[in-house]
Amino acid sequence: MKALVCTEPGNFEYTEIADPPMRAGHAIVKIRKICICGTDLHAFEGTQPFFHYPRILGHELSGELMDFDDAPGFQRGEAVTFLPYLNCGNCIACRAGKTNCCVNLQVCGVHIDGGMVDYYSIPSRLLVHSNDLDLTELAMVEPLAIGAHGIRRAEVQSGEFVLVMGAGPIGLATMEFAKVKGAEIMAMDLNPHRLEFCKNILGISNIINAANPDIIEQISDITHGNMPTVVIDASGNRKAIHSGLNYLAHGGRYILIGLQKEEIMFSHPDFHRKEATLMSSRNATRDDFEYVIKNLVNRKINPRSFITNRVKFIDAAAGFSDWLVPANHVIKVVVEKE
Ligand SMILES: [Zn+2]
Ligand SMILES: [Zn+2]
Repeated sequence: MKALVCTEPGNFEYTEIADPPMRAGHAIVKIRKICICGTDLHAFEGTQPFFHYPRILGHELSGELMDFDDAPGFQRGEAVTFLPYLNCGNCIACRAGKTNCCVNLQVCGVHIDGGMVDYYSIPSRLLVHSNDLDLTELAMVEPLAIGAHGIRRAEVQSGEFVLVMGAGPIGLATMEFAKVKGAEIMAMDLNPHRLEFCKNILGISNIINAANPDIIEQISDITHGNMPTVVIDASGNRKAIHSGLNYLAHGGRYILIGLQKEEIMFSHPDFHRKEATLMSSRNATRDDFEYVIKNLVNRKINPRSFITNRVKFIDAAAGFSDWLVPANHVIKVVVEKE
């Protein structure tokens, strides 16, 4: 079968590799849609932490279930997606149901080869399906679940102000699920095009350009002097992460979904004075996947508006360098396979 391999930063090669064998407790999925994520773009760029090459990318996937062992309730030929997080099932996090932060976690397309292939083998227990979603929607469940998990971690309540820093696909997903919770959303980014998207497509009236020198004043005005009780970083930008605490209300929660590779620093007195809660949000769980599917089926969220580019598998390699250029206004790319 054909595979697209990222051989080193900046280079892809289409290669013939063996089809995955059918194994006990596993399923074979014929990959049909691959959404491209910041992780994939950063891996191509060479800026993704803990990344080794060569690597087959791709973890936002959907396809046809070709064959399986031990997947009760599933049928051959049906459309599926899956959790691309291979957890061990035995560690302290797994035993607590926090499979998303398993001690021995291997993420498809990151720690192990991913889904830019014709056929992919995955443990059957990770399969997810919904009769009511098409293949494109199924491939978007994973990135949406990242946002849903962050909102769950933050325990966002109706009516509270939630500031989301970073209006890329994960930030947009986070905003969508904050909206489902009835929060007052504030969208922050440096890219005016993305802020316009938040305003015009997601209907978020409070948009904040991160380059605004009077940013604290602007946030204060929007929140009637209180500042947001939840601040979420979905930018993975160190400077933004450092600033986030300055925007947080006293008693508020600061959640880091985005990831970068350096240390982060805060003023301890500021952190203490606010009695702030700091937490990270990593990946997602099956509950988050199910929650996303429920909201997609009920049309509470509409991620189709995130899709700016559709390409064929054979053209994906050539697309990556273009998708990295901010002026090209790419939000979400879907790679389509026959
Ligand atoms: Zn992703
Ligand atoms: Zn584990």
